[in-house]
Amino acid sequence: MRAAATRPRRLQRFLDCGKTYRVWINTKNPALFKVLPDYCHDRLCPACAKRRALTIRRNLDRALNRHYYRLLTLTLRSSPTDRLETLLLRLTAAFKTLRRTLAWKTRVSGGVAFIELTWNPAGGWHPHLHCLAQGRFFPHHLLKDLWLRCTGDSKIVDVRAVTRQRDALAYCTKYLTKPYDEALWDNTDLATQLVDDLRSKKLIITFGSWRKTPLLAPDRNPDWRPYKHEAAFMSSLAKLTATDLALCFLLDAIHDNRLNPGELIDLSDPKNDPFTGHSP
Ligand SMILES: [Zn+2]
Repeated sequence: MRAAATRPRRLQRFLDCGKTYRVWINTKNPALFKVLPDYCHDRLCPACAKRRALTIRRNLDRALNRHYYRLLTLTLRSSPTDRLETLLLRLTAAFKTLRRTLAWKTRVSGGVAFIELTWNPAGGWHPHLHCLAQGRFFPHHLLKDLWLRCTGDSKIVDVRAVTRQRDALAYCTKYLTKPYDEALWDNTDLATQLVDDLRSKKLIITFGSWRKTPLLAPDRNPDWRPYKHEAAFMSSLAKLTATDLALCFLLDAIHDNRLNPGELIDLSDPKNDPFTGHSP
């Protein structure tokens, strides 16, 4: 994020990710609390990437049904001097062209594609596409010929049938949290490309019958709501209730890393009693 020095607000949000918290109370069981951090939601933030991957995995799991699926990998030929933005535009344009072909339309009814970006010192940027396609058998040689026609120079593709839903989920989401090569961050130009060229670029493409599938929709549980007295108990200690005092202890425990944010806290459980219990 050094490359983002000229974008101070984004950098500050990134650096502050997870440093402040919000208390949530369970409306069905008011003895149940959880404390969640405020996130920066930056694409390059490892903590936020992990959380986003879990959201996508959960929504993908719901979206998959009893149809037949295939996992397609489409790679793009690149040279070490290619700019990331140019490669990304080429990849998405070629994939759009592929989806317009009759061969694709007659075999694939919908799906989702994840763009993975890798970089290595010898080869430079290497964006490629992992696609979960719903539909019929897609012969490897046919996909290879089509992809070569759409890209003009790339013919390395892979096709495999999905036998188990959990394999499809793992295949699609394992790339979402993969860290970048450490050496990349030592090169200001490359890091700037990653920070700037990815801005407003879609790295997850839903298409066909999957076009409106909300893969990034957060899981809203109506049983939880923000605890609105949080600010009040921080500022006026005299009015605190026993629950408020317990929450002070819990927030303290999170700040000291004795408790993980997001963990369910049941104040009716004697071991969570901040005055007599041993945990947190
Ligand atoms: Zn973050």
